[in-house]
Parts: sequence; C-alpha cells; structure tokens
Amino acid sequence: MISAKPVYYFDNNATTRVAPEVMEVMIPFLRDLWGNPSSAYSFGAQVHGHVEKAREKVAALIKADPREVVFTSCGTESNNAALHSALYMNPGRKHVITTRVEHSANINYGEFLQRRGIDVTYLPVESDGLLDVHLLEKLIRPDTAIVSVMMANNETGVLFPIAEIAALCRSKGVLFHTDAVQVPGKLHLDVKELGVDFLSLSAHKLHAPKGIGMLYVKKRTKFQSYLIGGHQERGRRGGTENVAGIVAFGRAAELAVNSLHDENTRVRGLRDRLENFILSHIPNTVRNGNKEHRLPNTSNIAFDFVEAEAILLLLDGLGICASSGSACTTGSLDPSHVLTAMGLPPMRARGSVRFSLGIYNSDADVDYVIEHLPRIIQKLRDISPLNPGHPDNNDYDIEAARQKHEADLAAAIKESVAA
Ligand SMILES: *Cc1c(COP(=O)(O)O)cnc(C)c1O
Repeated sequence: MISAKPVYYFDNNATTRVAPEVMEVMIPFLRDLWGNPSSAYSFGAQVHGHVEKAREKVAALIKADPREVVFTSCGTESNNAALHSALYMNPGRKHVITTRVEHSANINYGEFLQRRGIDVTYLPVESDGLLDVHLLEKLIRPDTAIVSVMMANNETGVLFPIAEIAALCRSKGVLFHTDAVQVPGKLHLDVKELGVDFLSLSAHKLHAPKGIGMLYVKKRTKFQSYLIGGHQERGRRGGTENVAGIVAFGRAAELAVNSLHDENTRVRGLRDRLENFILSHIPNTVRNGNKEHRLPNTSNIAFDFVEAEAILLLLDGLGICASSGSACTTGSLDPSHVLTAMGLPPMRARGSVRFSLGIYNSDADVDYVIEHLPRIIQKLRDISPLNPGHPDNNDYDIEAARQKHEADLAAAIKESVAA
C-alpha cells in the first residue's frame, strides 16, 4: 500500500514524521518480542528490561529519575492525569488555574471540571502572547489545588517562564504542572531547573509514533492513577504497556537531544528566512506572538483580508502542509482561541496561518513556499470582498501550478513503487 506522503511539510507542531532510527528499534517489538512485560516467563519478562531502558532514556531527556516517569497514551492523557490527581489528592481544594491559550487538552478538561463543581480560572495573556506572572500570583488562593501552564505554545511558539511560575507556586504551597509537549528537541529541558511537580510530553511531537506519552511525577508527590487497572507503571497507570511505542519514545528521546543544535541554528534560520520573506514581500501581514520568547521552529502569521482556510486549501493543492489554529480545531469556523486570547480581531485571527518547521525541512522546501505563497495571497485578495486594494497584476496560473505538483507527486509515487 502506497500513500502519497506530504512533500512540503510545515506542520511539525501538529505531528512529526517517525524518524527512520526510531522505526528501526520498534519493529522487533511488533514482530518478535511481543510478549507481555508483566508475564512471569522469560518470553514476556525479557521485554520488561527494554521498557525500563526506554524509561531511563526518556528520563534522561528531562533530567529526571526513571522512577519519576509514568508512560501514558498521549499528551492529552498526561495533562488530564495531572489535574485529576491534584484534585483527588487535595479534596479540600476546589480551584484550578490554567491559561486561556493552553492546548484543548486543558481548556476542555477545565470546562469538564467546571461542570463537576470545580472553580477554574483561565489566565489571560498579553497581545504578544506573554503571561503576566504578577497577575497569576494574585489569583492563587488557599484552595487552589494546582496551576497548569504550558511551556511553549503550539500555535505561536511563545514561551512562558516556567521556572519562575514553578517557584511562585512552590512558595504558595500549590502543585504545578507544565505541558511541555512542544519543547523536546527544540529547547533544553531539565525538571530540576524548572522545579515542576508534573510535566507532560507526547512522543509523536518528537519523531516517534502517535499513541505514547509520558507524565513526569516528581518524587514524593502524592499521585492518584487516572486509569484504574493493573499494577503497571508501579501502580500509577493501568493498562498493558505500549511496548513498541515506549521503545520508540526512548530512542526518539536520545535523538531529540542530538537535534537541539540543528533546530536552533539551521531550522531557526529556515523559519526566519520564511517569516522575513513573508513580512517584507507580502503586504498586510503581521507576526502573531512575541518574536524573541519563542520556539525556534514556529511562525504564525496573519494575512489580512484573506481566510486562512482558503490559503491552506490552495497550499494543499501544491503539496504544502500548514495549519490554522491547532489541528484539533480545524474544521470549526471559530477563530483560534489562542489568537483570540491575544486580542486579535476575529477577522485577523481567521486569516492566520501557522508554519512549524522541523529537522526534515530543507532550504528547497522554504524556496517552494516562497515561490508560491505571494501569488496565492494576491489571487485570494483579488477576489476577496474584504480587500480594500485593487491590484491589477495577476498572471499567476494556480491551476497550472497545482497540476505540476500532481504530476510530480504521481512520478514520485511511481518511483517509490518501483524501488
Ligand atoms: C499535541 C499537543 C498536545 C496533545 O498531545 P497528544 O499526544 O496529541 O494528545 C498537548 N499539548 C500540546 C502543547 C500539544 O502541542
């Protein structure tokens, strides 16, 4: 079975390609070593050792003790589990603080908690996406069970001062969780330096497969399992281990440390080249989010007078993958909750596109976008009732460009079938 893989991938904050090195280490656990790690006989028990080796590697990525790593199914589960545990373990505390710009894993879990009688405060952000830590300080109450603030925003790449917030929470005797799903491979991660009680990761954001995540639970933190079942994960998460996923996560954790340099030099350079080109060559464009306190791979840009959905459709026709808002809200017509929280007018938020690059992007990928994007925007603005300008120059044949891409793709597929 061959399916066309995306050729120009600018959506690494949504998910990432599985690294060949990662694929390689997981296959034996699907093909040969498929025993249950909890089994007593050696066919199963030998698998247990590999799970523990992977745990050490994931722990090393965040400078934790392996016993502080709880494998879960995804970043969403990790976030939910942290909030769930904090509330369960502190029954007298019925208040949670998070932010308006979290992943839907927190925003929607917060709404669920509100329906169950928990008071949830959603911290606002400033127009550049940054957080006012003094405001957070004022909002912490004696009955606050946990504060959950993401480390890097998946839509804008904006970074929050996690060590500072963790220290504040510690001084107030409140648990602190951070969703660091976007961070591995892009920035240095050290749970001791950060001083957090809980931290979430998801393997598919760092070149491992979907369906495996982890929650760091700091030593001596009281913890209530979210999935109740067997004694896996030392009683902290029921369910037979996703062995191949865990082994893959371990390998990806090692590679993430190695890719820090590339992400912060070459990938950052590609991102900046793309962003600078757009801002200087396409009129009426604005960067969303703080320029400096930002991940090296993410660029979120508003194209005024056009709908992002239309841009994405035309980009898709050319084999370019990018997104508006987060993948989880695509398809809904509401503008991104992150951009809305930053105070963007709905029209500007609806015209915003996120480009998120990664280690598999090349100069040629950026050249390709640079070649096509200005004309796509021009084309859309010419037909947009929102556009006050009346540009006349328009000889770009998008249909011809789309057909060329289709032909290139067909040829590439034919070649990979023959290979
Ligand atoms: C992708 C993502 C998640 C969700 O992770 P899943 O493994 O897909 O559940 C949570 N938080 C952030 C910041 C993300 O980017």
